Amino acid sequence: MTKRKFLMSFTPSIVNEPITFRMVKDFDLMLNILRAGVDERGGKLVIEIEGKPSQIKKGVGYLESSGVEVKELNEYVSKDEDRCTSCGACISICPAEAFEMLKETYKVEFHKDRCIACGLCIDVCSPNAMKLEIW
Ligand code: SF4
Ligand code: SF4
Repeated sequence: MTKRKFLMSFTPSIVNEPITFRMVKDFDLMLNILRAGVDERGGKLVIEIEGKPSQIKKGVGYLESSGVEVKELNEYVSKDEDRCTSCGACISICPAEAFEMLKETYKVEFHKDRCIACGLCIDVCSPNAMKLEIW
């Protein structure tokens, strides 16, 4: 089982479709809605999907074929290099080992592809170099 977080964007034409119900029933996935802003004009959901990797892939494919724009949440996590002081506070707190202290330069590098968008680094980064901006 794997957990992944996504931002789903709905247009008004699909906002009343039973999409989350179908994700659970047809693809055997568990959904946890972390944040929602949906009304008759459309909207956005931040959602954690848990299930077998192959089923998550199928479920995301179903969403996209239904007209939902789906992006993995880590695409919205960013590091402002100008603010980062390479203090290293994020390295030990990150559960995904997405930060690395480069031996040559003593600079902290962010590996976005490893990030699972948990948000922990944002809380410990005192210069506010780490951001998760989705709304
Ligand atoms: S906690 Fe913030 S300032 Fe410190 S290394 Fe990480 S990103 Fe840079
Ligand atoms: S959001 Fe979580 S997983 Fe991503 S870099 Fe920060 S601490 Fe690591």
